Amino acid sequence: MQHLKAFEDALGAIHSEGRYRVFIDLHRHKGRFPKATARFEAGEREVTIWCSNDYLGMGQDDDVIKSMHEAIDSFGAGSGGTRNISGTTRFHVDLEQELADLHRKEAALLFTSGYVSNEATLSTLGKILPNLIIYSDALNHASMIEGIRRSGAEYRVFRHNDVDHLRALLELDDADRPKLIAFESVYSMDGDFGRMEEICDLAQEFNAITYLDEVHAVGMYGEQGAGVAEMLGLADRIDIMEGTLAKAYGVMGGYIASHSSVIDAIRSMASGFIFTTSTCPVMAAGALASIRKLRADEGRRLRAIHQDKAATLKQKFRDAGLPVMESPSHIVPLLVGDPERCKALSDTLLFDFGIYVQPINYPTVPRGTERLRFTPSPVHDEVMMDELVAAILAVWKQLGLDKAA
Ligand code: PMP
Repeated sequence: MQHLKAFEDALGAIHSEGRYRVFIDLHRHKGRFPKATARFEAGEREVTIWCSNDYLGMGQDDDVIKSMHEAIDSFGAGSGGTRNISGTTRFHVDLEQELADLHRKEAALLFTSGYVSNEATLSTLGKILPNLIIYSDALNHASMIEGIRRSGAEYRVFRHNDVDHLRALLELDDADRPKLIAFESVYSMDGDFGRMEEICDLAQEFNAITYLDEVHAVGMYGEQGAGVAEMLGLADRIDIMEGTLAKAYGVMGGYIASHSSVIDAIRSMASGFIFTTSTCPVMAAGALASIRKLRADEGRRLRAIHQDKAATLKQKFRDAGLPVMESPSHIVPLLVGDPERCKALSDTLLFDFGIYVQPINYPTVPRGTERLRFTPSPVHDEVMMDELVAAILAVWKQLGLDKAA
């Protein structure tokens, strides 16, 4: 092949910056989460997973798995087409109805992932609303950034969670131009909450549309697990809600929920929705079972345990003198501040202690803020937490991190 050298050079640059990603090959055993078997060239070992986004363990839930078995037995494997051409099944329709009900919106639209839902929706909004200006939080996820770039709309980036900066930017623009504010409810790497009420107030004052990514909140916050907007009583002030089925719901897929004309327009115009095979019915069936379970008492029970586990882990880190970043959510980031040592810490925890937590380096987070991001679930117990803290303390010392600050 021509130009192979360019590929090698690109990889070389990633290596030299300590950003080369190595995937851990995991065998998750049904019913044993967060334990799994990791496969390496040298052999296999049992590990405890500390960085899964299967936040509530629903990917291993008996009812979810049963619903998926039943769906596959009666519907078969794939959906057989795009939504428009034979790829719409009862499960897709029921799931969209369930999502609309969950978020108290008129309609919802399913995508193959949360990434695609953000990218496809935001990029299409620029085509529907001439002269649109998009205001985007500086820490918004890559899928939103890609969608905004491709929308063709003008956009302004406001400093993370800085509502004064957002106001200043809104004030600079022509009052008559259509505006949209895109932000998240739980920021995935710092675990902080978006300033939802203040942003909704600004949106109202400046006649802007609110677009909220609740990917790290759906299933986990609010009475029915509809997210932080539900928890804060602000759901009615969010115009377009976006979420995933791949984290707390434990399956795969993404969605938006909104007014029926918004959903109909995106359904009719978004390439990322139209020109791709629809989600496998089995996925939609699993998501449906998971959402229904998490809307009911079992969801409330799991959410309470989940929050409790996150608070316990943060306290254990603090008690051990480890630099846990203060986050009000279920995400527990531990600041390392250096890409090599972050990777070395993660590698030693894995190979010497069977503790699996992926290092988070630039560009996912700014340089100098490299970290390990822990996501305790309801099934991580105190023994696992104590083992984790002891192992980190040992490696922390070994790497000289105790003297770094
Ligand atoms: N939004 C945010 C904030 C995310 O963190 C992610 C994925 N980590 C996505 C969207 C994409 O969701 P999915 O994994 O379902 O594609």
